[in-house]
Amino acid sequence: MNANDTTQHFLQQAFEILGVDEDMRRMLTTPSRELRVELVIRRDDGSIGNFIGYRVQHDDSRGPFKGGLRYHPHVDIHEVRSLASLMTWKTAVVGVPFGGAKGGIQVDPREVSPRELERLTRTFVRQVHDLVGPERDIPAPDVNTNAQVMAWFFDEYTRLHGFAPGVVTGKPIGLHGSPGRSAATGRGCVFAIRETLRESGADLKDQRFVIQGFGNVGSWSARLLHARGAKILAVSGSKGGIFAGDGLDIPAVLEHYDSHGTVLGFPGAEAISNEDLLVADCDVLMPAALGSVITARNANDVKAKYVVEAANGPVTAEADEILEQRGVTIVPDIYANAGGVTVSYFEWVQNLQNFRWDETRVNEELDKIMTEAHRKIRDIKRAHDISMRKAAFVLAIREVKLATETRGIQ
Ligand code: NAD
Repeated sequence: MNANDTTQHFLQQAFEILGVDEDMRRMLTTPSRELRVELVIRRDDGSIGNFIGYRVQHDDSRGPFKGGLRYHPHVDIHEVRSLASLMTWKTAVVGVPFGGAKGGIQVDPREVSPRELERLTRTFVRQVHDLVGPERDIPAPDVNTNAQVMAWFFDEYTRLHGFAPGVVTGKPIGLHGSPGRSAATGRGCVFAIRETLRESGADLKDQRFVIQGFGNVGSWSARLLHARGAKILAVSGSKGGIFAGDGLDIPAVLEHYDSHGTVLGFPGAEAISNEDLLVADCDVLMPAALGSVITARNANDVKAKYVVEAANGPVTAEADEILEQRGVTIVPDIYANAGGVTVSYFEWVQNLQNFRWDETRVNEELDKIMTEAHRKIRDIKRAHDISMRKAAFVLAIREVKLATETRGIQ
C-alpha cells in the first residue's frame, strides 16, 4: 500500500460513517490538477542537472490551494498526491480558508550545492508560476525546504508577477514572514497533545516522550515540551538517535546539534537506532520525520499510549488498525501538525493586509484554533464512538462537502 492508498483508506472509512454516495466520494478524492515538470539547471561543474518536480492541487472549494514543497529523493507522484489530499482535510479540520495542495522535487539536497538549490528552486517557480499565486495556490516549507527556499520562491515569483509576498508562507521574518511561523507546527503539536491528554485528566509534564526527527517540527516540539516540564527520552535524525532514560537536556541537545549538525554523539546519552526508538518504552511517541514508519511490522511493539502524528502519514493503514485495537490513541496528522498551516494562514493574512502581528498574538490565536478543533473532533468521536482519526476525517469531509455542494455543481 503506498502513501496515497493509506490516505484513501482513511477517507473511505469516514465516507462510510457519513454515508457519502459514490459520486461525491469520487469528486472529493480526485485531485483537481496534477503537474509534473522537468527542471533543467546548469550544475556548478558545468554539467547539466535534470530533475523532476511536481505540484498537485487537490481541492480549492474552501479557498486557494495550500501546501508545502518537499525536496527529497523519494518524492514521487503517489506521495505528492497523498500529501496534497491530506492538506485539503487538514485545512478543513482547523477551519482555515484554504484548500489542499503539495509539491516536491525529486532531489537529494545533500548532493546539490546551495547555489544549485537556488537555481533549482527558481527553475521550479518558472515552471509553475502561472498556477500559483496569493489567491490561487500558496506553497510553504516542508521536508528539506526552509525560509530561504521560500525567499527564493517569493523573489522569482515577484520578478514575473510583481510584488506578491502572499505567494508563499514560511518566509524569513525579515522578508514578510510571520513571527512564530518556524515554531508553529511543533507548537501546534504541543497544543494537540495537551488537549488530548486533558480528556483523561493527564498533564504534559508527567509524560515521557520519544520523538523521531530533529528537524523543524521535531526540534521545536522537543524544545516546547521540555520547557513545559515533559521528559524527552529520545530524539533522532536520519542516521539514528540518542536516548537517556532520565530525559534529555533539550537546550543542550539543541546546542550540540547547532555545532555538530547531528544529535549523535551528545554526551551522556546512548545511541539508539530509528527502529528501536519507535518501540522504546514511553508514554507519547511523536514521529516527526517521514511517512510510513509505523507499519504492520512494528505496530504491535509500540509501547506508547499515545502516538502524535507530527509527520504526515507516519502510520500506515494496517498499523492504524493494530494500534486502535491495542487501545493506543493516535492524534492524527490532519489535526496534530495543522499548526504550521494555521500560522501560514496568519502570515498570508498579514501579507494581504501589510500589517504585522506580534508573536504573542500569533501563539494565542494558534492555541485558540487548535483547542477549538480538538473540541469539534472530540464531540464527533464521542457521538459516533470512533477514533480521533476517523472523527477528524468526518469533520473535514463534512466541511469540504458542504463547501462543494453550496458552491454548486453544473
Ligand atoms: P525537516 O527537513 O526540518 O526535518 C526532517 C527530520 O527528519 C530531520 O531531523 C531528518 O534528519 C529526519 N529524517 C530524515 N530521514 C529520516 C529517516 N529515514 N529516519 C529518521 N529520521 C529521518 O522537516 P520538517 O519540516 O520538520 O518535517 C517533518 C515532518 O513534518 C514531515 O512529515 C512534514 O511533512 C511534516 N510537517 C511539517 C510541517 C512544517 O511546518 N515544517 C508542517 C506540517 C507537517
